[in-house]
Amino acid sequence: MDTTVNILHVTADQADARILSALFADSGRQATVDLDVASDAARFYEILYSDQQYHFVVIDDRIEWEDWASLFDRLIGFGSEAMKIAMYSAERGITHEQALIPGLSMAYPRSNRGLLALVELVGTMADKCLANRVEQTAEAAHPLALSSEDDQQSLIYAVSHDLQEPIQLVSRYAQILNDDFGRVLDDHGAEILEHLQQNIGRTQEMLDEMLDYSRLQTRKLEVGPIDLGQIVDEIVSLYQLTLDEIGGEVMHDQLPTLTVDQRQFRRLFQNLIGNAIKFRRDDPLRVEIRAKEVDNEWRISVKDNGIGIKPEDADRIFRMFERVYGREDYPGNGMGLAVCDRIVRNHGGRIWAKSLPENGSVIVISLPKQ
Ligand code: ADP
Repeated sequence: MDTTVNILHVTADQADARILSALFADSGRQATVDLDVASDAARFYEILYSDQQYHFVVIDDRIEWEDWASLFDRLIGFGSEAMKIAMYSAERGITHEQALIPGLSMAYPRSNRGLLALVELVGTMADKCLANRVEQTAEAAHPLALSSEDDQQSLIYAVSHDLQEPIQLVSRYAQILNDDFGRVLDDHGAEILEHLQQNIGRTQEMLDEMLDYSRLQTRKLEVGPIDLGQIVDEIVSLYQLTLDEIGGEVMHDQLPTLTVDQRQFRRLFQNLIGNAIKFRRDDPLRVEIRAKEVDNEWRISVKDNGIGIKPEDADRIFRMFERVYGREDYPGNGMGLAVCDRIVRNHGGRIWAKSLPENGSVIVISLPKQ
């Protein structure tokens, strides 16, 4: 198993980076530390726009290529899972409180003591992170073995299945009310009845979506080799009319052949490409789908130049019925990404969103090769 912990050190001072590297090497921890240093703007932006994931990002407060606040704004959305730690210059009068901006996990002074505390923290967290990874690997191998997953699954099934009957009764009574008493209702009464029927319809839709999600949890995967490029081409052809109308294009690299459930993967990419089209800006839409091998995983990214995803929304949009905008602005039910997350997890992988500082977003899928 890979026991490497990836750290990005954003610093103007190569000497600090060398000290940190030496301290990590001497820390005697179980984890190997892989330290990337961004000490100039070119390297920093190269990393920011890459798919590289870090467990920790250490940010020095004496960056020379831009002011710290705007640099920090960029970093806060970067690698939503990474723990972000500031190293501040106490000798320049910066206090711990000033340095600990919301979104940071820790702030340490740039002194020997601060560096040692940082190494200690990273070491402890790295060991924990490795322990979690062992658990997560076990969970991925037996997704239904964990009781919390079982509980969640039973709850979703119970809610979506058992509420169908009462909601249908309510719907039926609302219909009777409309048919038999509609004539005697005044405008206000008629308006309320209309809202009632709309909301019953919406509740029924939500229950159907939950039932469908529940089936994704319980149905056995039908895996076989599929050419991902071909699936993407098929989906693009479904959207071709819309793409022609809006002057958009979807490009893809050479994509791998994966051993997955074809129906689920078609749905996964249909949701992602559909979202890129839905959440576009006025500029011509450009979607890029790329794949690369990282250790024992495939990393597949779907990048668009649309309205983007705020860092603070990046995690919650994968939950059921979570949306950022009202249905009147963008139609939808907030289940698309939850379904994507379910499908990827069914295959032992992970999915996450990254916002781009200028515009657009990237949805990244990592899938174990086996
Ligand atoms: P829906 O599309 O029905 O709203 P999803 O679960 O697919 O539901 O997406 C949840 C939310 O995530 C969306 O409402 C939107 O705010 C955000 N989102 C998803 N994909 C994108 C994207 N490509 N660009 C910008 N925002 C997105």
